[in-house]
Amino acid sequence: MAAKSFDVIVIGAGPGGYVAAIRAAQLGKSVAIVEREHLGGICLNWGCIPTKALLRSAEVFHLMHRAKEFGLKAENIGYDLDAVVKRSRKVAGQLSGGIGHLMKKNKITVVMGAATLPAKGKVSVKTDKGTEELSAPNIILATGARARELPGLEADGDLVWTYKHALQPKRMPKKLLVIGSGAIGIEFASFFNTLGADVTVVEVMDRILPVEDEEISNFARKQFEKQGMKIIAKAMVKKLDRAAPKVTAHIERDGKTGTMEFDTVISAVGIVANTEGLGLEALGAKIDRSFVVTDQYCRTGVEGLYVIGDATNGPWLAHKASHEGVMVAELIAGGHPHAVDPSSIAGCTYCHPQVASVGLTEAKAKEAGYQVKVGRFPFIGNGKAIALGEPEGMIKTIFDAKTGELLGAHMVGAEVTELIQGYVVGRQLETTEEDLMNTVFPHPTLSEMMHESVLDAYGRALHF
Ligand SMILES: Cc1cc2nc3c(=O)[nH]c(=O)nc-3n(C[C@H](O)[C@H](O)[C@H](O)COP(=O)(O)OP(=O)(O)OC[C@H]3O[C@@H](n4cnc5c(N)ncnc54)[C@H](O)[C@@H]3O)c2cc1C
Repeated sequence: MAAKSFDVIVIGAGPGGYVAAIRAAQLGKSVAIVEREHLGGICLNWGCIPTKALLRSAEVFHLMHRAKEFGLKAENIGYDLDAVVKRSRKVAGQLSGGIGHLMKKNKITVVMGAATLPAKGKVSVKTDKGTEELSAPNIILATGARARELPGLEADGDLVWTYKHALQPKRMPKKLLVIGSGAIGIEFASFFNTLGADVTVVEVMDRILPVEDEEISNFARKQFEKQGMKIIAKAMVKKLDRAAPKVTAHIERDGKTGTMEFDTVISAVGIVANTEGLGLEALGAKIDRSFVVTDQYCRTGVEGLYVIGDATNGPWLAHKASHEGVMVAELIAGGHPHAVDPSSIAGCTYCHPQVASVGLTEAKAKEAGYQVKVGRFPFIGNGKAIALGEPEGMIKTIFDAKTGELLGAHMVGAEVTELIQGYVVGRQLETTEEDLMNTVFPHPTLSEMMHESVLDAYGRALHF
């Protein structure tokens, strides 16, 4: 049977793939999208969205415990873990279903099955009913990634979990070890800690959330420790001895190995791209530690083959995947889009307190040779933060002392994952310190701290 032909075939329907498909269809292209599991990818089904639904339950639970502080009464506070998980799965299902409607609305052909690339411009899909052959001059690979598993620390779904198990826990851990303190590890640590588990985080680097500005990650650590979390940095989990219902972790620190016992372990040690077995190497694409090597326009060097999202260079975030999807669709349609600038992509961690940042940390700015001006503003100096009962947090801004360019912004505290976008827009518009100082921020809002932090960098803070 002849292959069905399209202008564009997208492989993988996560936030990279489905957004690329929509944009290509908007630009008048005939588009097919191939997905082997769920529309919406990891993000909607097993990542961004269901974790935020779980964390929202934890946040409400935390606030219920603080009811008295707000003049309210809440007695016999408790939770039903199954109902918390059910809500999270329902939210994920609702959004995944929504992608199906978007595909229909944009007249995109959806093919459910696992794709391979047998030759240039060809896609072979193993579906329930057999193999379907498709062809297109442009193929966008957006196959995403999965949890990385280290030898000896592999998940078994019972005592040792990946994020997928942790998103639908069968039981509430009593004594939980989280290996890795990146965004995923810290979000689960925060969720289970808030619900009452005794949580220990082990991080191989010298501090948690190691990509964040050092001051912010130290601030976050103090807050987590106040909440009862234990953090062991500069340490490595070497081995797990599993003997249900216990796991003994062998943890090496300062050249010495000790043991600690847990009932559950979450391994959050990074991701591996879904790029094997597709036929990429035979086509001439280069792969570096599972990630496909691309240029700044997501081109692979193989004519008509683009790779976006978690299957290629970081940062491995949903909004980066989507933005690359739009960029590649426009490139295919003959446009001249700007390349995605990783230094203007915000990173957010939805733990309690939240952490968010964009651009260079203070250390990285200095390393790059900038003379910097640094501003800081604490939540305790902000009326809205006090009214909300959220006085713990800070906003730090870093400017190039010579030009006034906003090099980086770093935040920890309530709702900072919503605030950070203000600085992202500022960077996109190439604003200087002066523009930001002359901007009027509404009162009373947490965003006033963004203004004050900028003012502080130039010795002009008003409320501290
Ligand atoms: C627990 C967790 C929390 C996260 N939280 C956030 C967050 O808050 N914010 C954020 O920005 N990012 C977050 N992320 C990261 C985010 O999920 C990813 O960056 C994003 O999903 C990447 O999008 P993608 O389109 O590249 O790939 P994916 O979302 O992984 O989608 C890839 C799709 O391709 C399909 N596929 C793979 N191989 C094939 C094949 N051969 N044939 C057909 N289909 C195939 C897969 O089934 C999948 O549906 C989180 C991740 C995890 C695990």
